[in-house]
Amino acid sequence: MTTEYAPLYVVPTPLGNLADISERARDVLCAVGWVAAEDTRHSAPLLRYIGAKARLLAAHAHNENAAAERVLALLAKGEAVALISDAGTPGISDPGARIVARAHAAGARVIPLPGPCAAVAALSAAGFSETHWLFFGFLPSKSGQRRAALRTLAALPYALAFYEAPHRILESVADMTEELGAERTLLIARELSKQFETIRRLPLGEAADWLTADPMRQKGEFVLVVSGATEEPPATEAKRLLRLFLAENLPIKQAAKLAATLSGHGKNELYAYALALKELKTED
Ligand code: SAM
Repeated sequence: MTTEYAPLYVVPTPLGNLADISERARDVLCAVGWVAAEDTRHSAPLLRYIGAKARLLAAHAHNENAAAERVLALLAKGEAVALISDAGTPGISDPGARIVARAHAAGARVIPLPGPCAAVAALSAAGFSETHWLFFGFLPSKSGQRRAALRTLAALPYALAFYEAPHRILESVADMTEELGAERTLLIARELSKQFETIRRLPLGEAADWLTADPMRQKGEFVLVVSGATEEPPATEAKRLLRLFLAENLPIKQAAKLAATLSGHGKNELYAYALALKELKTED
């Protein structure tokens, strides 16, 4: 006899403003018997707020495999389960993927509800014209690894969306400026849907000054969206080499010549770019 599984609902929850819970999310959370939550203590007030009586089970990054088995056992008994995370959409830089994969593997129906997601909200406020965008989530916390990750993205003509913690915002913006280029546009989306929501669009090269002008601007939760590469990859690579040589203190002329020889890009254009970089540095 084949098992008839109840569905697994994937339910986004508000990022900060409780009024952002959708009517459908409310209905589902009030109808299911069980809610699998990233942090049960964190989610209990939301469930109380909407009048949901469901029982809670913990499904966080450290117990997700065991939680997946519990969820599957409930679905197999015909009990629908709703999966939620602390804020936003489960599985988006949040636990949930392993539970969803386990449900698919068993043949259970997975029903995703559209709803709050910080990256999507930030992108909608960016006004970038790129057709494509790439969600990166959190960059590595160590600068060397972060810069290496950024280098893999530098030539892509897509808007790039990052999540970042407040204590790393300045270092990340500095590394982005070095690796992606000061001339790109950055959208800073801070504290979305909360009291101190801040949306600021500015050149990436001006972001550090803007953030340090008022320490409050470095507090809270952040999404950073950077406009995509507009140049052909060879130009991007040539400029990357040039920045590398300048960082090694090679004279500008020599650095431009070497980068031109290695990349096949025009020497004069690279020389002008090196001068512009130098000017930016002396303004600091
Ligand atoms: N699953 C969530 C989503 O759908 O957006 C993301 C969870 S991830 C653990 C948390 C990160 O998302 C934060 O560090 C921040 O980068 C971003 N974030 C969450 N809420 C935010 C908000 N209200 N404003 C800006 N960024 C937010």
